[in-house]
Amino acid sequence: MNLRICAIMALLAGATATCAVAIHAEEAEGRKEVPQTQEGAVGTENFSYICKQKQDKEMQKRSFVLKGNVAFSAADRTLVLHPNSYLVCEEGRCAGVFETLPERYSSLPLTDHGDRIIIPGMTDLHIHAPQFAFRGLGMDRELMEWLENYTYPEESHYADLDYAERAYGLFASHMRRSATTRACVFATVHRRATTLLMDKLEATGLITLVGKVNMDRLSPDFIRETTDGSIAETRLWIEETAKKYERTKPIVTPRFIPTCTPELLTALGKMAADCGLPIQSHLSENLGEIALVREFEPETPTYGHAYDKYGLLGGTDNPCVMAHCVHSSDAELALLKERGVYIAHSPESNMNVSSGIAPIARYLAMGLRVGLASDVAGGSSECMFAAMAHAIQASHLHWRLVDSTQPQLTFADAFFLATRSGGAFFGKVGAFEEGYDFDALVIDDSDTETTRALSLAERLERLPYHASWRNIVEKYVAGAILENRE
Ligand SMILES: [Zn+2]
Repeated sequence: MNLRICAIMALLAGATATCAVAIHAEEAEGRKEVPQTQEGAVGTENFSYICKQKQDKEMQKRSFVLKGNVAFSAADRTLVLHPNSYLVCEEGRCAGVFETLPERYSSLPLTDHGDRIIIPGMTDLHIHAPQFAFRGLGMDRELMEWLENYTYPEESHYADLDYAERAYGLFASHMRRSATTRACVFATVHRRATTLLMDKLEATGLITLVGKVNMDRLSPDFIRETTDGSIAETRLWIEETAKKYERTKPIVTPRFIPTCTPELLTALGKMAADCGLPIQSHLSENLGEIALVREFEPETPTYGHAYDKYGLLGGTDNPCVMAHCVHSSDAELALLKERGVYIAHSPESNMNVSSGIAPIARYLAMGLRVGLASDVAGGSSECMFAAMAHAIQASHLHWRLVDSTQPQLTFADAFFLATRSGGAFFGKVGAFEEGYDFDALVIDDSDTETTRALSLAERLERLPYHASWRNIVEKYVAGAILENRE
């Protein structure tokens, strides 16, 4: 936990904090004598009381026990396995895993999941909501050509709110039932449609950071903003959304250096710092893209240094996540490490648009912060189980074809990336240690029949290759169950 994480957690707790402020204000004015309220007596006088009562009720609901085969990653990436154990959630946070249920938790409601597996919810560190509509298409193109032929024409449709309503509705419903409990999401340049996406994601119960995309150069007329327009719309969007939601917050989102002028990048860096907002973008994904950045920014030693010049690698109050980093040089990696930047590894996307293979085992050995991402629609689906499989498979090819001195990723590594490591971008998220937010998936893997008697570790190892949303029986985010996920 560091200051940056504290800042983002405070950001995510924004709505609750507002509520607490209201209660204190009432107390200060000596209006504490609120009647033991009858339903319907909600006036301004006793609003804070009702608010607190609702919070207490909510917290009671978020205290319970699940029994099953519990698994999560330790900080050193090893698997922690607790077969047939009790997993306790207290007020939305994990209180621990126990072989025998301690007496102090005996009054909590208990659900016995029998032989099912319980793992932490997954964090998708990089996904494009407007590209969901064309997932699986255009995989015969390289990045820049793919953007021109598929991405930009599709993203232009989000000027039409009716289209956005339908497309983002579809995206949100898939995210709700997926293995993802937290996500960093790109929208488009359109402010109103971005807010619509945030409305929809808030309703899913997931905790997400959503970005209105900025681009004011090197993109087609029909999707390119003016510099002043981009800055003004982004300011307005942040004002409108920063405190609007409980679970959804804005994240500053320059598409990438090639499509943003220095003036825009400077303004965005300042906005992120002034508002304490996190930042997301793309970095060193494709060789053509890197060559472009060299032309635009000839003075900076690396692409990463160009972002840094504009204050876009984050600071002590606002963390940053950069997608890809497939071709990052040692100098760039040293800078990312110094700034504490998270790398969103997107293995399927890197294969689909022929970007390359990011040397993730090396990044982990260097102590860089790395999480996993679906990167729809460079990636073909939002399924984080599949993303784990792709991470493992890509590392095998890297070992065979590029550098046999680096180890291949194991299941334990991929599981760590998808849960604990990526979850850290959101604070204490992605493990079942005491004090972690209670994000959990209850998984029924009985449809993958076998004649073998598998250990819990073996059952986990199969999940990347066989599991999907269909295997998720229950899903919890910060202790709240997502009901009726169908
Ligand atoms: Zn992307």
